[in-house]
Order: sequence, then structure tokens, then C-alpha cells
Amino acid sequence: MKFCSQCGNPVIQRIPEGDSRLRYVCEQCHTVHYQNPNIVAGCLVTVGDQVLLCRRAIEPRLGYWTLPAGFMENGETVEQAARRETVEEACAELEELHLYSLIDVPHINQVHVFYRARLSGTQFAAGIESLEVQLFDEADIPWSELAFMTVRRTLECYFADRQRQVYPVHTSALPPSRPTLDT
Ligand code: ZN
Repeated sequence: MKFCSQCGNPVIQRIPEGDSRLRYVCEQCHTVHYQNPNIVAGCLVTVGDQVLLCRRAIEPRLGYWTLPAGFMENGETVEQAARRETVEEACAELEELHLYSLIDVPHINQVHVFYRARLSGTQFAAGIESLEVQLFDEADIPWSELAFMTVRRTLECYFADRQRQVYPVHTSALPPSRPTLDT
């Protein structure tokens, strides 16, 4: 950040009184510009035994496969964001959503939240941010072409849980603090 969004004057970095972190501060209007993590919300959409993946038409990770997901907007709930992103990227309407994975990604200041949901009806198609949208059996998941580690982790949890037909909420953080199978 270079300029104050309140008054347009240059900002400096300093630790405000009573604070413990460097912040962008405007010396003209004294606004402290706090910067906080962004939430990415998405859905693991199932149709029978298959999972819906989108091949990204945009950077980052253009051409790689992902669960439909994107940044939450102001004024919406996490669940609304997950539904909206699924409509935008996969033109897919969903039945009831179930919170499934919450993954902190502190090195890029993000929190990724995925819901499980069944496709409502049979319709889906590539939205403007997707090159194609496709249903995959577990055996055909393109593991080496997944766009994001949080997508990989969520899919791994899902296929493991499906063996037992129990789907608890999974919370974790990246990068992994201990060796995992997904490295
Ligand atoms: Zn200012």
C-alpha cells in the first residue's frame, strides 16, 4: 500500500500506539489501514460416486483442476459465497451444504473453507472462469494436475471419509507442520 484510501496522501508503516504490529498509517488523516486474511469459499460437489472439478481458465494455475471456489464478497455469508462461486464457475445449483474442511493458509493470508453438497438436478457447465467442468470417479481424479493443495487435501479427506460414510469437519493448516501423505 502506498496511498491512503481515505484521503489520498502517502502512508507510512509504523506500529500504532497500543498495537504490536506494523500497520500502514496515514499521517494526514491518521487512518490505520488494517490488513486481514481473505476467505476463499468453495464446494465439493458430488453426483452419485463422482466429484465435480473445474479446469481453471484464469491465473493463477490456469489449466489446472480445482473445486469451484473463490474469494468471499462483503455482505455475504461463507455459505452464500461457496454457492455463488459454484454457480459462477460450474453453473451448478446445489442441495443442502455441509461444512467440510477449513484450512488455514497463513503464508498467503488466506483461509479456505469447503462445503460438501450434492448437485441439484443434473445441470452443470463451464462458467466464464472455467475451461471445462467434469465429473470424476475417484480413480480418475487428476491428482498431479490439481490447482491447489487445499483442494487436494479436501479431496483426500473426502475419499477417506467415504469409505466409512462419516464426514466430520476437517480443520488443518498449510504448509503442513509434519510430513503428510500429500507431499
Ligand atoms: Zn489519509
